[in-house]
Amino acid sequence: MASSPNGAGDEAFDQFLTDRGHDVERAGWEYDHNKKQCPECSGLHDSAATSCTVCGWDPRK
Ligand SMILES: [Zn+2]
Repeated sequence: MASSPNGAGDEAFDQFLTDRGHDVERAGWEYDHNKKQCPECSGLHDSAATSCTVCGWDPRK
């Protein structure tokens, strides 16, 4: 009972979330002036876009 069987798992999961958080901003999008450009279909979106509304591409996937 003294040991914590979930300790290592929680730590790994926390690291996983940290890594994912960094990935969201740097993944995928290309930029054309102030626009985000989808690498799949070259559709342009404003900088607030989180996924492509033209083809459905999502940098988080
Ligand atoms: Zn697209």
